[in-house]
Amino acid sequence: MSASVHKETAEDLARSVRDGSRSASEIARAFLERTGRTSDRLGTYLHLDPESILAAATAVDDRRKSGEPLGPLAGVPVAIKDNICIRGVPTTCGSRILEAYRPPYDAHVITRLRQAGAILFGKTNCDEFAMGSSNENSAYKPVRNPWDPERVPGGSSGGSAATVAAREAPLALGSDTGGSVRQPAAFCGVVGLKPTYGSVSRYGLVAFASSLDQIGPLARSARDAALLFDSIVGRDPRDMTSRPEAKGVDLEELERGVKGIRIGIPGQFLGEGLDPEIRACLDQVRDGLAREGATELDVALPHARYAIATYYLIAPAEASSNLARYDGVRYGLRAGNGDLRGMYETTRGLGFGREVKRRILLGTYALSAGYYDAYYLRAQKVRTLIRRDFTEAFGKADVLLLPVTPTPPFRLGEKTEDPLAMYLNDIYSIPASLAGVPALSFPAGFTKSGLPIGLQLVGKPVDETTLLRVARAWEKASDAARRAPALAEAAA
Ligand code: GLN
Repeated sequence: MSASVHKETAEDLARSVRDGSRSASEIARAFLERTGRTSDRLGTYLHLDPESILAAATAVDDRRKSGEPLGPLAGVPVAIKDNICIRGVPTTCGSRILEAYRPPYDAHVITRLRQAGAILFGKTNCDEFAMGSSNENSAYKPVRNPWDPERVPGGSSGGSAATVAAREAPLALGSDTGGSVRQPAAFCGVVGLKPTYGSVSRYGLVAFASSLDQIGPLARSARDAALLFDSIVGRDPRDMTSRPEAKGVDLEELERGVKGIRIGIPGQFLGEGLDPEIRACLDQVRDGLAREGATELDVALPHARYAIATYYLIAPAEASSNLARYDGVRYGLRAGNGDLRGMYETTRGLGFGREVKRRILLGTYALSAGYYDAYYLRAQKVRTLIRRDFTEAFGKADVLLLPVTPTPPFRLGEKTEDPLAMYLNDIYSIPASLAGVPALSFPAGFTKSGLPIGLQLVGKPVDETTLLRVARAWEKASDAARRAPALAEAAA
């Protein structure tokens, strides 16, 4: 029985633990074994402690034996991006500066996962402080794409996406500031949801750009993503941007199909630089959903083309402020034995990688007295225009359909010397981030060479349900979500 554990949905795994047909320990052992076979090659984990995983699973089994009620994720392993704090467990954010850091508290989402009965399954590799689109910015090691280990898994939640795609874990949490859940989900052929800004508490998520950061689920199916989202959504007084009206998803709703759903396609925004295979896949999904009863219309996002420029002012500005706390005094690395200033400089000089330093420089410049109005303030105004574009589009459409990325997964090293090319990869994911609206990447198809193509659905605030519902309809209509990478099959 345990040979098939990795193929099960999280939903079925939890059900089998609740009804006693499987033990949480058996599930934990099966995933640990699989992870042991592939994770070194893929670089998916920065920290994995089998002992604590097995202890947590035993605790769930004991609870069942004593007749205590079990939560919706009972016994289901959930991998956690390494920028989310777990009490006493190393949390490096993929950075040298936090190499020895162990947070003294749990993030809100971790508390919620414990309550749901989930098994916290290791800390996944990521770009340093979540800055990147390829996972090559991890200070420790890159992550590789399970569909083709010569290619990147996307970033910054690359470890989380790759581990789910490789069947090392059924579920994972990532964080998305400008695309970091959706883009790796697209590159790895899994579902990735960026919830509405404020739907999931950021308490205990190490801050990158606080007005954009959101924690989101990665899963192999829309229902599993909904299950994980449900376990973490909701108001938390410790995050002042948390939304009181945030709500979970009713799994029944996801089965309702797409009849009558109005799908807006921002045609004008899809021109230049879009890979023809992704374009063709989008057309195919559009037609397929129309056959299922959806209606299609054209929408305009006239300011979306300014999204990259806007984001790369706002996000680095916030990062430069958020990262000021790593000064060698309170957390992690401390280096240099001269005066205080020398200690700051040496610590930050050694502790931060190139991309992080680049962002700090960009952000500090954009916020400096003489330039604040020209850059930061202006970017905030454009952000408002981008947000209004979405409000207008949602006057006509229920969801928008667009690409996640302009190209399929690229090769390791292909863009590392050209930050602008790397930033341009985010062109389709960033507009929804700036607008704060929910957005989802779902497995839509494959390139001729067998690489996954993800497409993006963007929704109205707190309407994660419709996104998951449309993705669910496509899962039923196509086989895009059913394929597994050869590497995962071979390890079976
Ligand atoms: N790739 C984008 C960046 O480098 C987005 C990262 C993210 O969403 N955390 O900033």
